[in-house]
Amino acid sequence: MAEKRKITVAYGDGIGPEIMQATLHILEAAGAAIDPEVIEIGEKVYRQGVSAGIEPSSWESLRRTQVFLKAPITTPQGGGFKSLNVTTRTTLGLYANVRPCRSYSPYVATRHSALDMVIIRENEEDLYSGIEHRQTEEVVQSLKLVSRPGSEKIIRYAFEYAKAYNRRKVTCFTKDNIMKLTDGLFHRIFNEVGEEYPEIEKEHMIIDIGSAILADKPETLDVVVTLNLYGDIISDIAAQIAGSVGLGGSANIGQCCAMFEAIHGSAPPIAGKDIANPSGLLNAAIMMLVHIGQPEVAATINNAWLKTLEDGIHTADIYRVGSSRQIVGTQDFAKAVVDHLGQKPQHLKPVEFHPVSGSQLHKTTPPAKSLKKELVGVDVFVDWNEDERNPEVLGKKLSAVDHQTLTLKMISNRGVKVYPEGKPETFHTDHWRCRFVNPAGGTVTHVQVLDLLRKVHEEVGLDFIKTENLYTFNGEHAYSSGQGE
Ligand code: NAD
Repeated sequence: MAEKRKITVAYGDGIGPEIMQATLHILEAAGAAIDPEVIEIGEKVYRQGVSAGIEPSSWESLRRTQVFLKAPITTPQGGGFKSLNVTTRTTLGLYANVRPCRSYSPYVATRHSALDMVIIRENEEDLYSGIEHRQTEEVVQSLKLVSRPGSEKIIRYAFEYAKAYNRRKVTCFTKDNIMKLTDGLFHRIFNEVGEEYPEIEKEHMIIDIGSAILADKPETLDVVVTLNLYGDIISDIAAQIAGSVGLGGSANIGQCCAMFEAIHGSAPPIAGKDIANPSGLLNAAIMMLVHIGQPEVAATINNAWLKTLEDGIHTADIYRVGSSRQIVGTQDFAKAVVDHLGQKPQHLKPVEFHPVSGSQLHKTTPPAKSLKKELVGVDVFVDWNEDERNPEVLGKKLSAVDHQTLTLKMISNRGVKVYPEGKPETFHTDHWRCRFVNPAGGTVTHVQVLDLLRKVHEEVGLDFIKTENLYTFNGEHAYSSGQGE
C-alpha cells in the first residue's frame, strides 16, 4: 500500500459536514492513500471575528499538505466578511479553476444528452480583485485587472489540459469588442499561446453569443477558457443544464497548492436532513486523487459512482419517477457507491484520468525590457455637481487652467464624450473624466501632472477623485478613447 498522502480537509457549513462524511467514507472504502488533517473554516470562524473565515494557523496545514479538500461554507450576510474562496485562491496562487461538466443521460434528466465540456476559468484576476471605491455621491467603481502573466498561465493550462485529455478544441470567451485593453489582452494571448498547440482547434467567441451557444448547443463546445467573472457565470449554467448543480466538482490548481470542492454552496435549507447529494464533493475528491498521483483509485470510485447512477439509486435532487429506481439519503448513497466498488458502468462512458503536467505548465514569458513607456497625458476624474451639470461650464473652467504643457482635450461622463460638442440627450452623473494631453504631442512629466492637479484644485476648486496616467508603449496608445472622442 502506498504511503498515505496528507491532505487538509474542512467540513464547512450547512450540508458540508454530511457530504464530507459521505465522501471520505467512499475514499476510505476504495483504498485511497490519504491522511486527512482537519481545519475549521466558515461561519464559526467568521463569528469569532476572523474576517477571512479561516484561522491564521490553518494556513500552516495548507502550506504543509498543499492539497485542500473543502466542503462548502455559508458566507454570513452583511459587510466586513471576506470571501473565503477568493482569499484561499489568491493567497495560495490557485490560478486555474477547472470544472468538468458532462451529461449522465438518460440516468440524470437533461435536455443535452451529448454535453461533455470542461470550463477553465481564470481564478485570481478580473473584477475579483475586489478593489472598489465610492468616488462621488452617485458613482462607485470596481477595478478590473487583467495581467499578461495571469492570462498566459490560464490559457496555457487550458491547452495543456486539452492535450492531456485528448480534447480536440479550445474556445476562448471574452468581451473584447467592448473591453479592448483587458479582454483584448486575454484574446491576444489566446492567439499567441494557441500557436504553440497546432494540433488543437482554436476558436474565439464574444461571451454573450458564447453563453447562448453554451445554453443551447453545449455539445459543440469542448474546452472553454475564459476570464474570472464570465467563467463563474457560465460554469454554473453548464452544471445546471447538465442535470444538477449537486453533481459538479471543481479543482483550483496553482503551481504548488490545489483545492478541490463541489461547485454548489452550503444549501442551508436542506442542511442536517441527510438528503443532500454528495456527488459534487465526491467528483472533486476524484480530481484530487488524480492530482496526488492516485488515478487508479480515482477511476475505481468514478466507475462505482457511474454504476450507482445507472442502477437508478439517486438522491432527491436527481430522482425522477420512471428513470430512477430508489431514492436514498446522503449516507445511503455513499453506501451504495461503496457497494458498487469494483463494478463498471454499462452505458455511461467511464472518465479517463490524465495528470495535467506538460513542461509548459505555469510558464510565463518574461517581460519585454525593450518597450518604451512614455507618459503623454492624464485623465483627471472629478466630482462635480454644479451649474445643472452642464459640461460646457465644466469644460470652460478646465480649459482656462493655465498650464504650460497640459491642456484639456475632452470630458466624458460614464465613458461618453460630453465636451466639446456633447449631445444634449446624454445623461450626466456627478462623475467626470477630464482628459489632459500635451497638444504638441510630446511627453509630459509627473511633476507637470502634479502641477496640473494643484491648479485644478486651487484655481477651479474641484475635488479630483482620482487620476489615470495616459501612457504609450512603443508609441502605441495604451488607453481607451471616449465614446465619440
Ligand atoms: P447553494 O448551492 O448552496 O444552494 C442552492 C440550492 O441548490 C439549494 O437550496 C438546493 O436546493 C440545491 N443544492 C445545492 N447543493 C445541493 C446538493 N449537494 N444536493 C442537493 N441539492 C443541492 O447556493 P445558495 O443557496 O446560493 O448559497 C447558500 C450558501 O452557500 C451561501 O451562504 C453562499 O455564500 C454559500 N456558497 C458557498 C460556496 C462555497 O463554499 N464554495 C459556493 C456557493 C455558495
